[in-house]
Amino acid sequence: MSPLAPATDRPNAATDVLRWPLAGRVLRWRRFRTASQIVLLLIAIAIVLHGLWGSDLAPKNLATVLTWIHYRGLLIGALLAVGNVFCGACPMILVRDLGRRLHRPTRRWPRWLRGKWIALTLFASVLFAYELFDLWSLPAATAWLVVGYFAAALLVDTMFTGAAFCKHVCPVGQFNFIASTVSPIEIGVRQLAVCRTCSTADCIKGRYAEGAPATVVQRGCELALFLPAKVGNLDCTFCLDCVQACPHDNVGVHLRVPGDELVDDRRRSSIGRLSRRTDLAALALLFTFGALLNAFAMVGPVYTLEVGIARAMGTAREAPVLGLIFVLALGIIPLSLVSGAAWVTRRLTVTSALGIRDIAVRYAYAFVPFGVGVWLAHYGFHFLTGAGTLLPVLQSATIEATGRAVLGDPNWTWLGLRPGTVFPFQLGSVLLGALGSIVLVHLVSERDHPAAAARAAAPWSVVVVALTVLALWVLSQPMVMRGTGLGG
Ligand code: SF4
Ligand code: SF4
Repeated sequence: MSPLAPATDRPNAATDVLRWPLAGRVLRWRRFRTASQIVLLLIAIAIVLHGLWGSDLAPKNLATVLTWIHYRGLLIGALLAVGNVFCGACPMILVRDLGRRLHRPTRRWPRWLRGKWIALTLFASVLFAYELFDLWSLPAATAWLVVGYFAAALLVDTMFTGAAFCKHVCPVGQFNFIASTVSPIEIGVRQLAVCRTCSTADCIKGRYAEGAPATVVQRGCELALFLPAKVGNLDCTFCLDCVQACPHDNVGVHLRVPGDELVDDRRRSSIGRLSRRTDLAALALLFTFGALLNAFAMVGPVYTLEVGIARAMGTAREAPVLGLIFVLALGIIPLSLVSGAAWVTRRLTVTSALGIRDIAVRYAYAFVPFGVGVWLAHYGFHFLTGAGTLLPVLQSATIEATGRAVLGDPNWTWLGLRPGTVFPFQLGSVLLGALGSIVLVHLVSERDHPAAAARAAAPWSVVVVALTVLALWVLSQPMVMRGTGLGG
C-alpha cells in the first residue's frame, strides 16, 4: 500500500457509472477504447486528406470546419458534461501503439524534463501560431498540424516508455487535464480496504503473460497514477486501463463535485501536492488567460491594439506585434495580477507564514472554473453558430471524392444559430465559471488562512470580478477577420 495520502473511498454503487446498466456495459467493453479511437482516426484521416486535396476555402473544407468548429466545441462540452473522454479516445495513442509494435521504447523520460514546462511552452506556441497564421482559414496548414501532431506523438512514445507524450508534451492533453478538474466524474478506487490487501497492484503495474514477462496482457496506468493514491483528474486520460487491470474489480467511474479537487492539497500519486507544483499553477493561469486572449483575438478592438502597437514599434509585421501582445497577456499581466493579489493577501493576513509565491500558486487553481467558462463561451459560440455547416461540407467533400452526390447536393444555407441568440449562453457560461472561481477562492482562503479567510479572499475576488467584466466586454464585441490589418 502506498505511503501517499489515500484516495477517497467510494463504495456507493449509485454514483458509480460503471455500475449503471447500459453505460457500465459499454465502458467495460474491452474494445470500447479501440473502437472509439478508430472512429476518431478515420475522422483525422478525412481531415488530412480533405485539408491537403480538398477545397482551399476554409468554410468548405473538412479540415478547418471539423477541427476549429466541431472538435473544439465538442471537446470543451464533453469535458464539462462527462470528462476527459477525448483523451480516452485519442487516435494518436492507437497509432503510437501500432508504432510500438515495430519499435519498442526502452528509455525513460528524463527526470529533468518531467513536469509541464515543455507542454506549457507548446500550448502557448500553438495559441500563437493559430493567431499569427490564421490557422482557422487554412485547410492545408490545419492538415499538416494534424500530421505533425501524430508524428510527434509517435516519435516521443516510440523512444520513451509509458505515456511520456501525454504527460509531458501534449498541449491538448494539458488543456484537457486542467479542464477536467471541473468535470463531474472521476476514475478511482471503490474501497480502499480492498487495495490494502491487494498484493499485485496491477492497476499500475499491469498484467503480463505467465512465463513471458515481456508480454503485456493488460496495461496498467501509463500515466503512473497509483489508484489507491490517485486524487482528482489531473494527468488522467480516462483510458480505463486501470479498470481492466484491477483483478478485484475495485476501480469505478464516480460522480463527484466538479472543481472540488482544485482545493484538495493532499499528496497525489505521481503529482504530489498542488501547492508545490508551480508548473501546474502556471498551467492553470495559462489556461485561464489563454482563454481570454483567444477570445479577444477574434474581436474588433484587437485590430486597433495591433495597429497602435505596430505604430509604436515602427513595424508593419504582425509577428513582433502579436508576440508583444502574447507576452503581455500570457506573461506580464497574469504574473502581475497574481503577485499583486498574493502581496495584498499577505499584508491582510499578517500571521501567514506563506511567501508571495506560495500564496500565488495556491490561489492560481481557483481561476480554472472561470477559464473553463470563457473557453466554453468562445468555442460554444463557434459550435452553436456553425455546427450545421458539417452537412454541406460533407456533401461537398463526397462529390469531390467520388464525383457523385452520394449524400445529396450541398445545401450551404445550413449554418447554426444566429450569433445574437448565443450571447445568453455565453453570458451564463462566463458568470457560472466566475461564480465557481469565487467559491474556490473562498475555500482556499478558509483552508490556508482560517483566521482571516474573508480578508485573504478579497483581492482574489476582485481579480475574478475584473476578469469577468473583461470577458463579458470581449464577448459582446463584434467579430472581425483578424490577420488583414497588418498585411499578415
Ligand atoms: S489493482 Fe485494484 S485492488 Fe489492487 S491496488 Fe490497484 S485498484 Fe487497488
Ligand atoms: S489507467 Fe491511469 S490514466 Fe488510465 S483511466 Fe486509469 S488512472 Fe486514468
